[in-house]
Amino acid sequence: MARAVRCARLVDVVGERVLTDQLVVIEGDRIVSTGPYTGFDGELRDLGDVTVAPGLIDLHTHLVGVAACGDYAQELKHSAARQAFASIPNARDTLLAGFTTVRDVGTFRAFVDVALRDAVDAGHVLGPRMAVAGAYVTVRGGGGMLTGFAHDVEVPKEFRFGETRSVDDIRERVREIVFHGADLIKLIATGAVLANGTVPGAPELTEAQMRAAVEEASWYGRYVAAHAHGAEGVKRAVCAGVRSIEHACFLDDEGAELMAAHGTYLSADIWWADWIRETGPSRGYDAEQLRKNDETAEAQREGFRRAVRAGVKIGFGTDAGGFPHGLQGRQLATMVEHGLTPIQALKAATLTSAECMGWDDRVGSLSPGRYADLIAVPGTLDITKFADVAFVMKGGEVVKNTLRGVS
Ligand SMILES: [Zn+2]
Repeated sequence: MARAVRCARLVDVVGERVLTDQLVVIEGDRIVSTGPYTGFDGELRDLGDVTVAPGLIDLHTHLVGVAACGDYAQELKHSAARQAFASIPNARDTLLAGFTTVRDVGTFRAFVDVALRDAVDAGHVLGPRMAVAGAYVTVRGGGGMLTGFAHDVEVPKEFRFGETRSVDDIRERVREIVFHGADLIKLIATGAVLANGTVPGAPELTEAQMRAAVEEASWYGRYVAAHAHGAEGVKRAVCAGVRSIEHACFLDDEGAELMAAHGTYLSADIWWADWIRETGPSRGYDAEQLRKNDETAEAQREGFRRAVRAGVKIGFGTDAGGFPHGLQGRQLATMVEHGLTPIQALKAATLTSAECMGWDDRVGSLSPGRYADLIAVPGTLDITKFADVAFVMKGGEVVKNTLRGVS
């Protein structure tokens, strides 16, 4: 029997507007139709006085692995099995926060993310739909490696799976990572903030290497997401044809214009610096680390505003895992503070992110044929409410409902 959800307000991310008194008709795990409510003959769930939106998408999570604490030796103290089990609550917390889809962009121990994705798809684990990167493609000692160990200590192979040295070699890395089940390729184009010894702004891959990776990935229907902080690394990655730029902490005008011209998506984690500011002192961050955090955050937010002005396609990526999973909805309000309207922020975290993933045929909007992934907050549209959604449906199944008086 057909089922339906009645929505007092529905955020239409395609038309960038809020529609009133809508009916979403569901069959199995998919949406059949969405339109004005005129009655329904079947199993009807009336959500009451709420605002409904498509399930949210985070383009940048790390569901597997030890939360970024700066101590990479932790990774070597846990077995793959333990890491896999420890990722179960991360997946659950993400889904219950309204994120019905994530793009998981890397684990230091290769392919634990592939196993988690498959466990979610098989119904063994409660979690979001996942596209996974499998391993980081990175230079030796670069931002995607476990760094900080003595030079004569060799890190085990599963932590170096994506280590690359040359243009030919990067093709082989990409191929192997795809063969082991990755949905996309994650390149580390510049240094990283937390990796010892790397310089966040410094380029680590050449444009030729990245172009080879993009081409090789495309032969298997995959695309490339590039971690890039520095302005130069961003430009190289964009010119090489990557699908998205992650972080973009030091994005300049030229980089923003290049991204707009190439249609490159921006996935900038502009919220979590606030979390470091709030919790850093109690977690042992010293004054210098906190100052650097503030400076980087300000530069990144300036870059974000620049990208919005330049007309770059804005996706939604948070780097969850650096902070506790399930808090990432808070970034929507930060995006509104820095240049988007509330509806544009929701569009970034749904339709635009789905397009970035190449998954807009199945998620990202409440259009016919898409999975019945939807969320609700009480009352009228207020972006801050999406930090703590009251109702979550994934594939037609209700996985969370704290709405009063609604079954
Ligand atoms: Zn990350």
